[in-house]
Amino acid sequence: MSAARREDRPVVTRIAPSPTGYMHIGTARTALFNWLFARGRGGKFLLRIEDTDRERSSPEATAAILKGMTWLGLDWDGEAVSQFDQKDRHAAVAHEMLAKGAAYKCFSTQEEIEAFRQAATAEKRSTLFHSPWRDADPATHPDAPYAIRMKAPQTGETVIDDKVQGAVTFRNDLLDDMIVLRSDGTPTYMLAVVVDDHDMGVTHVIRGDDHLANAARQTMVYDAMGWQVPVWAHIPLIFGPDGKKLSKRHGATGVEEYQIMGYPAAGMRNYLTRLGWSHGDDEFFTTGQALEWFNLEGIGRATARLDFKKLENLCGQHIAASDDAALLHELEAFLAASGKTKLTSAQRHKLLAGMYCLKERAKTFPELIEKAEFALNDRPVLPDVASAKSLDVVSRGILETLPPRLQSVSWTKQTLEPILTEHAAANGIGFGKLAAPIRAALAGRSATPSVYDMMLVLGRDETIARLQDAA
Ligand code: GLU
Repeated sequence: MSAARREDRPVVTRIAPSPTGYMHIGTARTALFNWLFARGRGGKFLLRIEDTDRERSSPEATAAILKGMTWLGLDWDGEAVSQFDQKDRHAAVAHEMLAKGAAYKCFSTQEEIEAFRQAATAEKRSTLFHSPWRDADPATHPDAPYAIRMKAPQTGETVIDDKVQGAVTFRNDLLDDMIVLRSDGTPTYMLAVVVDDHDMGVTHVIRGDDHLANAARQTMVYDAMGWQVPVWAHIPLIFGPDGKKLSKRHGATGVEEYQIMGYPAAGMRNYLTRLGWSHGDDEFFTTGQALEWFNLEGIGRATARLDFKKLENLCGQHIAASDDAALLHELEAFLAASGKTKLTSAQRHKLLAGMYCLKERAKTFPELIEKAEFALNDRPVLPDVASAKSLDVVSRGILETLPPRLQSVSWTKQTLEPILTEHAAANGIGFGKLAAPIRAALAGRSATPSVYDMMLVLGRDETIARLQDAA
């Protein structure tokens, strides 16, 4: 089938993480690319847990993957599939390859292969193992355990037509006859991944470029089975800000950590989409736009570098652009995920009323909560050291005469603005000199939302009570 027709099939992508630890930020980005590509084309996005390595796989790691995907809003079609559950199917395909003559039984033992390798190393020959059983007459087969090896082409080249890397050529004489089924009957990763992708109808394999060489071997399995090779897109890995392989010393590498640090999911999606993919000069965009714009052509070939400043900047823009109720909902999910105290219904109410101003210039949920502290905390307000300085005797006197002016006016910014301006003028001070003690009285700190916003969020009674407390 021609490449063009192959790409015309309804899109099916997948993410196939190995559950051997926490969910890496690179896995999250690969999942996101696959999700955007499929969902933006009305296709399917599948999740397969590659748990064939029984020793390294754990249910906790699987749970972390599902949780990370859910947090990022990357929904998958159907149930998450366990690769291990398909082991009988993998074995059956290995035997089918055998029956077709595309694979053979290899009776070489581990010891024989090891001895060959040592001798080859000592004699400085290629250590590529050529099984003596490749062309053996079945009549000579012993009654002993055997592995099934792929009868790989020994000459010519395998070309991977990659959407990101271009045409990548692998010399067949440098690849051995890989084992597809071990002598204990378990499938190798290289077989399992192809069988599963074929069975799940995967049309596009978008994954890290550390798998590029695997694509050559996997292509041989597709060819041997007469199956259609998927469209490949091997994306450059994520590196640290210094251009070195991403590690803990660069900061968080696990998806869960980002949730606990309080980044909004939409900001995370925006940032991860931009990490290695571009659409002109667009930096800030919605998930809807990403779904519309995402394509394989926009994926760059250079390694992507994690940039926390950029992440925070985008997250701030997403918080500011969010719908108030949705933001409150996500903030509560953040509190739960990070083990913080739940909001009371009164606090929820106050937050919702104040969200319009709280969401400006907060890059994370902890920053938003800090801005909201004036509204979340009850009286008496305890001023911090800096704001206590604005509550000297003169200022307290000025605060004392303010409440009577506020008693029966309408509680809007338009009405309050001239009242405060007049009050400052009547006391012979500028507005700034009045704002500082009001901030101290209402919030107990000097960095707060505007005094009007605080007054509006707190309401008349609470505002007056706090002013009186301070005076
Ligand atoms: N299980 C592999 C990994 O976690 C992914 C394999 C693939 O995407 O083909 O790296």
